[in-house]
Amino acid sequence: MCGIVGYIGTEQAKDILLNGLERLEYRGYDSAGIALMNATNVEVYKEKGRIAKLRGAVAEEAEGTTGIGHTRWATHGVPSQENAHPHQSTSGRFTLVHNGVIENDQELKEAYLLDVGMKSETDTEVIVQLIEQFASEGLSAETAFRKTLGLLQGSYAIGLLDKEAPERILVAKQKSPLLIGLSSHGNVVASDAMATLALTDQYVEMMDGEVVILTKGEVNISALDGTPVSRAPYTAELDATDIEKGTYPHFMLKEIDEQPLVMRRIIQHYQDDAGRLKVDEGVRQAVKLADRLYIVACGTSWHAGLVGKQFLENIAGVPTEVHIASEFSYNRPLLSERPLFVFISQSGETADCRSVLVDVKQLGHSTLTITNSPGSTLSREADHTLLLHAGPEIAVASTKAYTAQIALLSILAVDVAQGKGATLDFDPLKELAIVANAMEVLCDEKDDYEQMARDYLSDTRNAFFIGRAVDYYVVMEAALKLKEISYIQAEGFAAGELKHGTIALIEDGTPVFGLISQPHVAGHLRGNLQEVAARGAHTCTIVTHDLATTNDAHVLPEVHPHYSPLASVVPFQLLAYYAALHRGCDVDKPRNLAKSVTVE
Ligand code: GLU
Repeated sequence: MCGIVGYIGTEQAKDILLNGLERLEYRGYDSAGIALMNATNVEVYKEKGRIAKLRGAVAEEAEGTTGIGHTRWATHGVPSQENAHPHQSTSGRFTLVHNGVIENDQELKEAYLLDVGMKSETDTEVIVQLIEQFASEGLSAETAFRKTLGLLQGSYAIGLLDKEAPERILVAKQKSPLLIGLSSHGNVVASDAMATLALTDQYVEMMDGEVVILTKGEVNISALDGTPVSRAPYTAELDATDIEKGTYPHFMLKEIDEQPLVMRRIIQHYQDDAGRLKVDEGVRQAVKLADRLYIVACGTSWHAGLVGKQFLENIAGVPTEVHIASEFSYNRPLLSERPLFVFISQSGETADCRSVLVDVKQLGHSTLTITNSPGSTLSREADHTLLLHAGPEIAVASTKAYTAQIALLSILAVDVAQGKGATLDFDPLKELAIVANAMEVLCDEKDDYEQMARDYLSDTRNAFFIGRAVDYYVVMEAALKLKEISYIQAEGFAAGELKHGTIALIEDGTPVFGLISQPHVAGHLRGNLQEVAARGAHTCTIVTHDLATTNDAHVLPEVHPHYSPLASVVPFQLLAYYAALHRGCDVDKPRNLAKSVTVE
C-alpha cells in the first residue's frame, strides 16, 4: 500500500524517483509527488491520480541530485493535490514524505501546533510541522527529527529533506516497510526492493525505531536514542525480468500463466535428497510441538488458509482453525495450551496480521509466516518462515501467490503426516506435478474462459459462485477475484446455504457458477444448480473430468481431490480477468485496492 523512494547521489534524481514510483504502482495509490533538492532550493511536484500525470507535471528543467518521492493511499483527508505528499513545513525548510498512519495527530496538533496554519488535512503534515517547531526552538534538525519521532504513535516510514543540509536525507521507520539500497553513484531508500532494482541489488535492512542518515556515500544507522547500529548489506534475489510484463498485456495474465512454473519451483525447493517433500526442521518441530494451529490471514490468503485447514486436518490430523486477522484481536478464540500461529501474507507486510503477531508473541506463542517476501516484516518477526518462491506478484489481484500458498500448506501437511509416520495413500510429489500439468492445460484454454466471460458476465450486475466441501473455499476466492477487478458484485456460497436465504436474489438471467470437484458432494451440487436454474438463473457447471457427464461443457483435467483447489481456481482467475477486460477495467490496478495492505 503506497510507497516511498528517495535518492541522494551524483545522478539527477528526477527519473530515478519517477521510475521508482512507477515500480511501486502495483502497491496501490491515489496520488503521488516528488521533491527535488539542489544546493539552494527544494522543488515540490504533486498530483492526484497516476504517476504518468505527475511525470507530465514535473518541469522539464527540474534539477536536483537529491530527492524524495511518494505514492499516497489516503487515510487522513481525501485524495487531492493538497493532501498529496511531499508536505512542507510553513517556512519551507523541511520537506517530508510519509507512509503509514499517525494515531495521535490531533493530540500533537493541540499540544504543539495550535498557532500553525495547516495546509492539508493529513496526519502527515503534523510530523513536518513538529520538526520545524522543535528546530525553531533551537534544536538541530536531527535532534528535532528524533524528538518528533519519539512523540508519534502509529506507523510510519519517513523521508525528510532539510534545505539547510542538502547533503543528506533523514529516514525513519516504525511498522511501515522501508529499506536502504546502495549503488555505485549514490544511495536510495525505498518501500521495497522493486522500486530501485534498476539501480542496485545491494540492500540494507531497517528495523522499527531506527533512524538513518543517508548521504551519497554513507548509510548511518542508529537507534532512536542515537546509539549507533551496524548492519551488513544483503543481495536481493530479484530478477529485473520478473517485474516486466514482457509480451503480456497485463501482469495478472502473466502471473496466471506462471502458476505451473511456480508449482514446479516449489516442488524443487521443498524436496530432500531422497526426493521426499520436506519443510525446514524448525518448522517441523514447531508443528510437532503444537496441539493446534491457528492460521491468521486476510482476503485471498485467508481463502488459501481455509484450503490449508483441509490439508492439515485431513492429511496430517492436526486440528487447525482459520481466522481473519482484522477480527482476531476482538474475537479472540479460546486458545489451546500449545498453539502455533501461522500467518499467511503474500507481501509479509499485512498490518492486520502483524498486529496479531505482535500480540501473540507477547503471550509467548510460537509463530510461523508463510510469505512471498524474504526479509519482510512478518518474516523477520515470526519464529519461522516458509517462502512461496512465486516470484514478484505485481497485479493487485493475487493469483500465483494464492496457489503457491495452497501448495505450501499441502507440503506442510504432508511433511507433518510423514513425520508422524503416517502412510499416505497418494504420492504428494507426483500429485503436485500433475497439478502443474493441469494448470498448463487450463492456461491453454483461455479462449474458452474469455467466451464464458462474454456469455455470462458481459452485462450482469451480480454473479454467484457455489460449491461444497473444499470447492466452497475455491468459489469464495472466485467471487473475490471477480469483484476485485471487474467490480461485479459477486458472492461465493456454500451451495447448501443458498436455499436458506440467498436464493431470494436469483432472478431471470442471474449467473450462477457451480464448481464440482469432490465426488462425495457432486450429486448435491448438481441438485443445487437445478434449483437455481428452475428460478431463472443462468447456470454454468465447471466440473472435473471424472465427475463430468456428456452434457458438461467446462471440464477440468483430473487431479487428486486433495489438490483440486490448485487447478480448479485457474478457470475462475481467467474468468475474472476477461470479465474485467471486457468491461474496460484497469485489471492490474483496480480502484481503491492496494497490493500490500500496510494499514490496519
Ligand atoms: N496517512 C497519510 C496520509 O493520509 C499517509 C498515507 C500513506 O501511507 O500513503 O496522507
